[in-house]
Amino acid sequence: MQVINFFVVCLALLYGFRDASSQPDKIKHLDRKIATVSQWGGTPAKDTSRVQEIKFITLHHGGEEFKQDKDFATYLINLQSWSRSEKKWIDIPYHYLIDFEGKIYEGRDIHYPGDTNTAYDPTGHALVCLPGNYEIQQPNDKQLRAVIDVFVWLCWKYELLPEVIKGHKDVAEGTVCPGKNLYAYFENGFIKKEVARQLKELLKIKD
Ligand SMILES: [Zn+2]
Repeated sequence: MQVINFFVVCLALLYGFRDASSQPDKIKHLDRKIATVSQWGGTPAKDTSRVQEIKFITLHHGGEEFKQDKDFATYLINLQSWSRSEKKWIDIPYHYLIDFEGKIYEGRDIHYPGDTNTAYDPTGHALVCLPGNYEIQQPNDKQLRAVIDVFVWLCWKYELLPEVIKGHKDVAEGTVCPGKNLYAYFENGFIKKEVARQLKELLKIKD
């Protein structure tokens, strides 16, 4: 039955069975909840010449230990400054970042492709990052809930299927990103199942 249900979700998304006139409360809530660049004190990218159409979603970790008492806005301001001055990127490489309280922050404007130090082309990918090293640390429940929230929100907005959500290591060789303790939630099927379940709820598809 699971396969049939999933097929219905695919169809509903692909053929736009959504009521376009009204956004579900969950989507409206997330629209308001995500901290914008100006809210955390960042500045928009200057070079806006390369644009993208979102087709995929990839999950990343920061890869470096992140002390939980560190101020997240300060971290983002420093990351933005480092990305521009050291890496010569237009902005923070990721589009959305999640703190330990499960708060979601906008990074690079999603209209512009992200950046990577690994061998894959991130054009077309929405990049979501949990700062920290999830080879060593464990994601908490608030972070996991926020990961699911942002994935559901992105799938809804860009009419994507849960199938297009991957870990960084699924699309690029030579990286452990997003770390084994976060990747475990792909391996046990939790992420895709939960995103599919919530999308079905938003689309009012009954079991
Ligand atoms: Zn990554």
